Amino acid sequence: PEAITIQELANRMSERAVDVIRLLMKQGAMHKITDVIDADTAQLIAEELGHTVKRVAASDVEEGLFDIVDDSTDTETRSPVVTVMGHVDHGKTSLLDALRHANVVSGEAGGITQHIGAYQVVSPESGKKITFIDTPGHAAFTAMRARGAKVTDIVVLVVAADDGVMPQTVEAINHAKAARVPIIVAINKIDKPDAKPERVRTELLQHEVQVESFGGDVVDVEVSAKNKTNLDKLLEMIALQAEILDLKTNSQRPAEGTVIEAKLDRGRGPVATVLVQRGTLRVGDIIVAGAEMGRVRALISDQGETVQEAGPSVPVEVLGFNGPPEAGDRLAVVENEARARQVTSYRAHQKRENAAASISGMRGSLEQMMS
Ligand code: GDP
Ligand code: MG
Repeated sequence: PEAITIQELANRMSERAVDVIRLLMKQGAMHKITDVIDADTAQLIAEELGHTVKRVAASDVEEGLFDIVDDSTDTETRSPVVTVMGHVDHGKTSLLDALRHANVVSGEAGGITQHIGAYQVVSPESGKKITFIDTPGHAAFTAMRARGAKVTDIVVLVVAADDGVMPQTVEAINHAKAARVPIIVAINKIDKPDAKPERVRTELLQHEVQVESFGGDVVDVEVSAKNKTNLDKLLEMIALQAEILDLKTNSQRPAEGTVIEAKLDRGRGPVATVLVQRGTLRVGDIIVAGAEMGRVRALISDQGETVQEAGPSVPVEVLGFNGPPEAGDRLAVVENEARARQVTSYRAHQKRENAAASISGMRGSLEQMMS
């Protein structure tokens, strides 16, 4: 909604809010400094105070920031990005941990790798890299989707062989289907004496997930996260699926990516884990994500090593934001700080307006309820 608070309007004109309120009063409207007025009224007031008004459309500011539609220059193959989903206690965390330690990219096996929210492993058979989002669960997936972020190429659906298809298994299937992301089924806990993998396959059929042995095209792998059984096979199946998807990118352009998670670190300041999706992110780049901006001060890999750059499908910790962005925010590299400031101040303003508008909407409906 096109609206602005009186305080914000006054700030932007470098006028006093009381003067804005006085003018509104002349027009017969009583207002408080926190009230929201519509864009037309705001324009009238601004012009009356001698300001030239230029209304900026979202498209003007955001233009050129994300080249999502134009993928004609995407000719390089990139690694797949995988999210692990499934019912609680079916072994998502165990599987992610087992995969991480089974096959970390740089041979720091046994070493303590820090969790940055995503990591890369190499399939030992084909030598292909695979990126795992390390925050399993539907919440992260849906939160990102809700913000328009598409980070996942493949969903690994974990189903415990001793428990079968459960409510969150079905939820995960529905999420994956809605996002048009292919599923690979990991039938986990195959080590258990009461494991019934065949029952899992039958139950999946009832939810339109048809595995290959049932004539479908969904790949399933029997695994044990506990005993590290068939993890290489799972990685290879993911690599094969990725080949079919024919994932392309362009590393030779300013970086674009998505914030996987972000926090305010006591010692290091705002820290964001970013999945780079196109282009190459470099130390020194000027970046925007959501309403936050900054200059990349340092990049830290999933191995905890300082790196100078990160290319497509590479997860990296980014230091240098002025404030922590939000998970799901899109990251872009811009030409200069002025452009970054323009974009982020516009977005911050939009955010405040939306918040203010929803508060005044709430107040309105509250008044209706009270009357
Ligand atoms: P999540 O809730 O899906 O993340 O599940 P967790 O990874 O926390 O695992 C839930 C429980 O199942 C834990 O007690 C794990 O030790 C156990 N578990 C996970 N994978 C296996 C497996 O392959 N075999 C057996 N026997 N237990 C497993
Ligand atoms: Mg877990």
